Amino acid sequence: MGSRRDFSLSSTPSLLVILFCFGPFSHINAKVNLTGPSSTPINRDLYHTSDTLMEQIKALVHRHPDKLYMETFRSKNKGYHADMTVVTYCRNRKQIDDKSKYRILLSFGQHGRELITSELALRILSILSKEQSLPNVDPLSLHNLFERLVIKVVPMENMNGRELVEAGDLCERRNGRGVDLNRNWSVDWGKKEKDYDPYEENPGTAPFSEPETQMMRKLCLSFEPHIWINVHSGMEALFMPYDHKNTTPDGLPSYRMKLMLQRLNHLHCKGRCLVGSGGGSVGYLAHGTATDYMFDVARVPMAFTFEIYGDGTASAKDCFKMFNPVDQTTFNRVLNDWSAAFITMFNISTHELDELRSNTTASNLDKFVSIDDYLNGYLMDRRSRYEKKMEVLDLGMQEIRTYFRLFFLSSVLLLLMFCCRISKRIRPIISGTTF
Ligand SMILES: [Zn+2]
Repeated sequence: MGSRRDFSLSSTPSLLVILFCFGPFSHINAKVNLTGPSSTPINRDLYHTSDTLMEQIKALVHRHPDKLYMETFRSKNKGYHADMTVVTYCRNRKQIDDKSKYRILLSFGQHGRELITSELALRILSILSKEQSLPNVDPLSLHNLFERLVIKVVPMENMNGRELVEAGDLCERRNGRGVDLNRNWSVDWGKKEKDYDPYEENPGTAPFSEPETQMMRKLCLSFEPHIWINVHSGMEALFMPYDHKNTTPDGLPSYRMKLMLQRLNHLHCKGRCLVGSGGGSVGYLAHGTATDYMFDVARVPMAFTFEIYGDGTASAKDCFKMFNPVDQTTFNRVLNDWSAAFITMFNISTHELDELRSNTTASNLDKFVSIDDYLNGYLMDRRSRYEKKMEVLDLGMQEIRTYFRLFFLSSVLLLLMFCCRISKRIRPIISGTTF
């Protein structure tokens, strides 16, 4: 604890919260001592332990085997092990590979200290399984929406980091060996701003050096989601790419993404949420983030980071209070508001995707266009990129085959020439003996 550096505090407490969650502390100006214990402990009347949360999720999955299933992955790197549980929802599991459905990937708890996000994961799974309902939502429209979705939920991406938090290091956001899992991705990886603080933003030794990031990347590339949401706390915000530069991507899909977030802000955030690119809205840049990778490399058409809660009045050393609601009323409000916001988000974005798909099909009436081929060829690009890799591999194999054939042919020729020379030498002896 004592090794943590002093940092400065500006006049706006909300900015401090932003910087805590999303980036470095030190954009701030007055000195505050981070040493010393966090003043608010984890409220166990509100928050599950990691174990009980996972048990609850497991029990939920067992009660709904027709809709939910759970997998646990394990990965290791240089003696460091990490586990990751993934829950998949599909209203009828037999249709899980139906390509007409929209695929959504949600990650919670990427930063250890943001406990509220994993509670939201449990709430969303309870709503998907219909064990909990949303007030003021027509059950039939919800039923129709869920019918169209396959959702993968990672309720606690950073299990090892969360363990450290629960053991008392309430300000820890990194994984079990001190790497920030939201700086360990490959887009603009490792770039350090002037105020870089390894306690907060250590990007690891290389992109994807961490088992947790490796597992998330594999999950994304195999699932090929249409929508990705990285769920954090520390402020209230609806972010879209980019995090590593202060602009949003060009083009109509990006513009529509922004409109969608503005609508969500109006409907569920009472206009309090910051909306826009992560890098542009917060006022500093974040390098090597998951959302930038999902958008730029994995080509997920709709990639977001949602920040669901932050207490700007909390003191800088009071991490639990800064990142998590501490009273029952606020705890319930956050879970109610944000579970509703996610469902609205699924609804709006599937309509957006429908529209983009119908625009694509309208211009390609003579041939069937699958859902993966929409959005200006986003996913097409990805597929053709992989195909190119396969082509390169195929070309390599062809070359090897050609070389092998040439080698075989020249060996046979050499053998023939050798045999001919021997037979020429032998022939006079034979003729000599017959003559
Ligand atoms: Zn965070």
